[in-house]
Amino acid sequence: MRFDIITIFPNIFSSYLKESFLKRAQEKKLISIKAHDLRDYSIDRHRKVDDRPFGGGPGMVLKVEPIYKAVNELVSSKDRKLVSRSKTRVILFSLRGKRLDAKEAKRLAKYDRLILICGRYEGVDERVAEHVVDEEISIGDYVLSGGELPALVLMESVCRFIPGFLGKAESLEEINGSFPTYTRPEAFKPKKSKAWKVPEVLLSGDHKKIEEWRSKAR
Ligand code: SAH
Repeated sequence: MRFDIITIFPNIFSSYLKESFLKRAQEKKLISIKAHDLRDYSIDRHRKVDDRPFGGGPGMVLKVEPIYKAVNELVSSKDRKLVSRSKTRVILFSLRGKRLDAKEAKRLAKYDRLILICGRYEGVDERVAEHVVDEEISIGDYVLSGGELPALVLMESVCRFIPGFLGKAESLEEINGSFPTYTRPEAFKPKKSKAWKVPEVLLSGDHKKIEEWRSKAR
């Protein structure tokens, strides 16, 4: 799977992608991730990508032309041989988008290529949502300063559904729900308090009982 991120802050991605599961997946060639600087697609010599909103109001809005140009160049040219348009999904991060959850992540994992557009400032000229992208996605009902964290969240949640990404299929907790986990010591004694103990059943070695306990605890 290939991810192309369109952003005015491409450097945000490098440190996270150097340390995580996403790094290993890139080394294993399961995925490739490229962050593209939106300013490289600006249409004026000052590399301007934002402007004031029509109708007034605070802040700046990302312009439609550079985003249109970036998406067009990414889906056409030599990249067309890589992945067909029908297996590519162009996504805009927006507070009005569909809420990302495990089901949505699994759906997106079926594409071969995701192009992720990160908004900034007061948002993105609405014509991008209307004409350029296939869908809009929100990662939750709170306002962030840009689409860069949503892009990392989306990539990591989608990648968990790519075979080979995690190693062990059981780690796909999203499908069955998450259960509480513990590790050593069996009893931890904090100062001025009784010991905090691990549930007995997990120490019992009785796998059937452990399974029952886990499904109840979900
Ligand atoms: N004034 C805008 C907020 C813009 S936030 C409004 O009220 O709609 C700037 C950008 O950050 C957005 O364009 C979007 O791309 C991104 N963003 C912020 N919070 C987000 C969230 N919860 N999910 C997805 N994208 C988000």
